[in-house]
Order: sequence, then structure tokens, then C-alpha cells
Amino acid sequence: MRAVAAVLALVLAVPAAAPAAFASDAFHLLRLDGSYLKWGSPALGTPAHVRYAFVTAPARFPGAINCDAMVPLEPMLKASGIGAERFRTEVAAAFAMWQHAADVAFREVTDPAAVDILIGAQAKPRGFAFTNVDYDHAAAGPVRVLKKSLICFNPDKPWKAGFDGNVEVYDIRYAMAHEIGHAIGLDHPSPSGQLMSFRYGEDFRTLRAGDESGAIALYGKPGAPVVVAAPKPGAPPPDMALR
Ligand SMILES: [Zn+2]
Repeated sequence: MRAVAAVLALVLAVPAAAPAAFASDAFHLLRLDGSYLKWGSPALGTPAHVRYAFVTAPARFPGAINCDAMVPLEPMLKASGIGAERFRTEVAAAFAMWQHAADVAFREVTDPAAVDILIGAQAKPRGFAFTNVDYDHAAAGPVRVLKKSLICFNPDKPWKAGFDGNVEVYDIRYAMAHEIGHAIGLDHPSPSGQLMSFRYGEDFRTLRAGDESGAIALYGKPGAPVVVAAPKPGAPPPDMALR
């Protein structure tokens, strides 16, 4: 798998330039090789369906900068005392934040080979959590389509489900939601204040206005009606089947 990845982590800032229309203190679209990245169609503000799964056996992704080797999460969760059902609830809540904010829908599938976002534990533990994004390299343009995102957690760190004021131990829902933000095309906007900010904190556990604006810039508003441009005289009718 050819992979060009951004180095992304809860504790590492990656500055990225954005034109004025999408520059904001509150959100920052991920930009690699001059292109914005998103699922679905290569056009900003358009919806997408995204499948995710968990690693069920050791998996390698040669060339990935982050998460190039992943293993199942169960030992990490067990070590942190987070039960399987609780973990599923936390993950679902993390995906739901983004799905409620913008027109991007997530579905868990069981086949790790046929997914868009794959989640696991790092085989070589470092940092806290990372995301690796790979995109369609063939179609150069202002927006490119994501092909595979990997999210990996450090199994040597303790994790928790919920806030307790101890910012040395990260809440798995918060960390998951942050990494999902990267996995769908968002970068760090600022050190703090948004869920996509790179400093971990326990002041809020849901998306902030900037996070929502970033998701909407990529995928449009949730449930927004499909706008079909009026056909020009003599032009063929729009292909409705594509929507
Ligand atoms: Zn991050």
C-alpha cells in the first residue's frame, strides 16, 4: 500500500496553510501535497458514508508514518479496566459526534480488509494516539479522496472512560473523537479550545463550534437537502443516480 501520511497526534501540532475561505482560529482542514482530503466526492461540502472496523489480528501497513503495525485493542482495554461493551459505547459516541455535526455517516463493519477507518493498538508503542491518512494519489486536485485512515492507540498508556480531572490519563472517547477528526480530514486549529486542538484537556467532552464548522466545511450540514443545479438549456439532465 502506497502511503503518504501526516504526522498527527494529540500532543503534536502540524501547521498547515489554508486559504482565507477556510482559515479559522476554530478549525483547520487537513492539507497534504496541496490538497484537502475527505471521504466521498472530491468536493468540499459534500456528504460521505464511511465504514470503520477494529483490528482483529496483527496487521502491517508498510510505508505508513503512523500506525504501520497494529494489534488488537483488547489487552490495552483490559489493562485499563475498560470493558468491551463500555468501549463500544464510547467509540459509538465519538463517531456520533461527527455524524450529528455534518453530513457524514459512519457504519461499523466486521471485515478489517474492507474498511475506510481501521482502529487498533500500536505494535510499537509511542505517544498517546495517532492517525495515519492515505489518499487517492492519482487524481491531483484541490480536494482528494481519502482511501484509508488508520487510528492507533498506545497500549502502554493507561486509558479511562470519562473525565476525572487527571489529565495524565486520557479519556478514550475524547481521544477517539479527536483521532476520528483527523481520519475524516481535519487538522489541529490551535493549542486548545476545540476538540481538534492538540492539547488534551477535560473542560469539554463534545465537539466545539469550530470542530463542527470544520466538519461542515468538508461534508456539508447534516441531513442537508441535495441541491441540484438547474440544467442549462440544451445540457443533458443531471445524473440523479449519482446522489
Ligand atoms: Zn491530533
